[in-house]
Amino acid sequence: MAVHPYALLPAGQRTIIPARAARAFLVRAGQHLRVFDQEGQQVADVAWVAADDPSDAFSGIVTTQFNKAVYLTSGHVLYTERRRQAFTIVDDPAGPHDVLMGACSRQSYLLRYGAADHPNCQDLLQAALAEQGVHHVVSDTFNAFMNVPVDAQGRLSVEVPRSRAGDSVTLRAELDCLVAISACPADLSACNGWNPTSIGVEVG
Ligand SMILES: [Zn+2]
Repeated sequence: MAVHPYALLPAGQRTIIPARAARAFLVRAGQHLRVFDQEGQQVADVAWVAADDPSDAFSGIVTTQFNKAVYLTSGHVLYTERRRQAFTIVDDPAGPHDVLMGACSRQSYLLRYGAADHPNCQDLLQAALAEQGVHHVVSDTFNAFMNVPVDAQGRLSVEVPRSRAGDSVTLRAELDCLVAISACPADLSACNGWNPTSIGVEVG
């Protein structure tokens, strides 16, 4: 088993990522990553890089290409930029989830709302990865619980998540990955029901 220099989550217990915060940790191939919406109507932005090659990160476009789907749920596989299978969604009572909107960013709050220096998933996820020694520009994210309908004209909208307190999605790792997860701080849209809250994570 390859040795990786990354943090591990405590085994056998749930780690809470507070509202507007992020954590990064190793998930090994064969392990299950379970993400919980602790309080309901809360999106978790999930990013990762391959542990054996941190330049190979999650790709939303490869994932939509290979699944031929934009609403992702049980049975769908999440891919890296180099077309490696990273995770399979194995249990999903609260889906589907979003891979179209990516991470919210300092610029997205400024452009959409005129809000300068708003807390954002891109900065949170990049800081969490940097704490593990990985400097990666986070763009694509698997947005657990994010409710983004596509209308008949192809337009996207961000709606209140369907997830309720305690709902979860379970991903089986196909590749050793350094995963970063943020409790999305969006409070100027319906993304988190206008009330950002915490996210729970279990690895086992
Ligand atoms: Zn966000």
